[in-house]
Amino acid sequence: MSGRIPESFIEELLNRTDIVELIERRVELKRAGSEFQARCPFHEEKTPSFTVSPTKQFYHCFGCGAHGSAIGFLMQYEGLEFVDAIEEMARNAGLEVPRTGGGEAPAKPRNELYETLDKASAFFQAQLREHPEAIEYLKSRGLSGEICRDFDVGFAPDSWDALMGHIGNDENSVKLMHRAGLLSQGKTKAYDKFRNRIMFPIHDRRGRVIAFGGRAMADDGPKYLNSPETELFHKGRELYGLYLARKRIGRLDSIIVVEGYTDVVALAQYGLRNSVATLGTATTPNHAEILFRATDTVIYCFDGDEAGRKAAWRALEATVPRLREGLQARFLFLPDGQDPDSLVREQGKEVFDGLLEESQPLSDFLFDHYTAQVDMNSIDGRAKLVQLALPLLKSLPEGVFREMMMERLETLARHRLPGAQSRPQVHRKSAAPRGGDHQSRSPLGWAMAFLIQNPGFAALADGLDELEGADIKGIEIFFKLIDICAKRPNMTTAQVLEHFREHPAAGHLGKLAVWELPGDDDRRALAFCNSVDRVKLQWLDVQLQNMPRIGDQSKEQKQQYLAIQERKQELKKSLDLAGPKD
Ligand SMILES: [Zn+2]
Repeated sequence: MSGRIPESFIEELLNRTDIVELIERRVELKRAGSEFQARCPFHEEKTPSFTVSPTKQFYHCFGCGAHGSAIGFLMQYEGLEFVDAIEEMARNAGLEVPRTGGGEAPAKPRNELYETLDKASAFFQAQLREHPEAIEYLKSRGLSGEICRDFDVGFAPDSWDALMGHIGNDENSVKLMHRAGLLSQGKTKAYDKFRNRIMFPIHDRRGRVIAFGGRAMADDGPKYLNSPETELFHKGRELYGLYLARKRIGRLDSIIVVEGYTDVVALAQYGLRNSVATLGTATTPNHAEILFRATDTVIYCFDGDEAGRKAAWRALEATVPRLREGLQARFLFLPDGQDPDSLVREQGKEVFDGLLEESQPLSDFLFDHYTAQVDMNSIDGRAKLVQLALPLLKSLPEGVFREMMMERLETLARHRLPGAQSRPQVHRKSAAPRGGDHQSRSPLGWAMAFLIQNPGFAALADGLDELEGADIKGIEIFFKLIDICAKRPNMTTAQVLEHFREHPAAGHLGKLAVWELPGDDDRRALAFCNSVDRVKLQWLDVQLQNMPRIGDQSKEQKQQYLAIQERKQELKKSLDLAGPKD
């Protein structure tokens, strides 16, 4: 057991983490009112019932009931243990996880992994300087020493164990190298995965080396070899060159997306410092999201052949749902047999710039693609066109661009489309009632729901001593909630709930976190106070029930009985004054 992670740190971590951003990196979210929606990643479904609340910092699925904080999401989605989820989030937030109490020193498995990859990168760069044949090769590709240094280009010598010899043959080092994807496993022993290759380190968005791409020097074996997917490297989430481009330029006017890291380096050599490459995978929605966080204009660059057009179409499909107002995507198809590397080397930057200028807007590519599949001269063909194009157009975010695309489709099809004339419908609520089991909503349940969703309300609850020792199920949880919320009223719902992670009531409290509360903030504050008063009433009733009948009461008991009745009337009166029952 490692030491306990202090609760204050967990709160801090949740402060520094935005659950929307965290989930968005893994699940495609759509804005719906003040929340975000998605098809639930935890159960199969056709219509989205998974919601993420930026204010509560909480996610919840109305279909399967999955819910929790950013920590809970990471645990559930990535299959991580609590401590590992904390470690992962701390890394992303740039925080060190403190430990209290005894136990072993905290393990830092990932740190060692990054260190190993760093060592490997430094080794490859040093090897490049010692291998003139590799330098010659790079020169023959038109790459200068300066550009190679900018991209930390290196060389893996033609050896089975040079890297292993450098990093270490001991059990721990070999284990780390395996985890980092640097080794291949033979029948009896492991050996260096990258041999006789030009090495391109792949950085994550924070600039840490997480993988490598290797280009063959000789003609044996595959021309390009990438690190396998590891715990640090997920192809669908990474773009080669993005970190370096952003580091150099900051906010990018446009980003050119190419297919290979050698293209990125070659374009940089010719002054185009704004290109990135997918890493042996099709463009994913995740990529599109990352790209549009870094720029407003994305230019996808593909081969003009059939494979290239197919890849381009997949990029388009990944992009369309992300095309919010003010963003644009374009497509550049290169002449047959050319890649950006060869083209810019043979024809120069001006020609390449010209091609970029002439690149096709996404809308043109989209309609060309569809109209090519149907007979536009027949009514049937045009109907087919609508059938083909409509689903994708409907996935465009609402806005002017979507309207324009709908109009264009309508013009092409020459008949009115239901989706084009009226304002697109916002999918806000599913038919099923939301907010869970209404029948079990006791005054205390309401009070806790208000509190969990509005921790600042704790300050409004007064006269709580009346409830001390009250025989009401769950009252001790209510007091714990009040205690936590009163100390730090600015906490989010998720932060409050994290205090109950190990508590048997955690599941129940999670449900309260998504009860739909009536009214606006002011009315809710009042409604919270009312619900607390109703809990008091409930307790008074319990006390009355437990008293001897009036005739059997002692003098003291009679006084107590009257006091309770009086208090009841007071509370009822203030509830009546406060307005109708909510
Ligand atoms: Zn679900």
